Amino acid sequence: MYQHILLAADFSENTEFIVARAREIAHQHMAKLSVVHVLDNIPMPDTSYGTIISLGDELDNQQLKQEKIALNTLGEALGVPSNQRWLIWGTPKEEITTLALQEGVDLIVIGSHARHGLALLLGSTASGVLHHAPCDVLAVRLHQEN
Ligand code: AMP
Repeated sequence: MYQHILLAADFSENTEFIVARAREIAHQHMAKLSVVHVLDNIPMPDTSYGTIISLGDELDNQQLKQEKIALNTLGEALGVPSNQRWLIWGTPKEEITTLALQEGVDLIVIGSHARHGLALLLGSTASGVLHHAPCDVLAVRLHQEN
């Protein structure tokens, strides 16, 4: 039985498939569910936020506000308490695996796209997490039409 599941959400159009799978497994295992979103595409503002954004803070950065709303909306929909919603600056594979270790996660649920050519050589978040994770990883296959 898994006890603590971490869902990695990038809020792309495929997120609902990964969310559905994480919800299902957490329910089956009666496991605690946490959610992480890594801020890898917006510049870190010159403020004292730190690399882990407290969701209780009032934020003055517009992009950051939107990411926070998206994470809180997902957290509410999944019934994930606010102290298990993580908004972190950094590189997704590193932050996801570090958080999993710190929080005693025993299953990471992540999306995985089929890759070819150069994209395959460069690697993906899913393969990075798979190679560095301290626990099991469920890579939910995302197809083109998903
Ligand atoms: P990618 O390989 O980057 O297309 O992403 C595959 C999966 O990695 C996504 O479906 C998410 O589960 C996870 N992921 C990618 N980027 C992030 C991010 N910034 N924060 C959290 N999870 C992410």
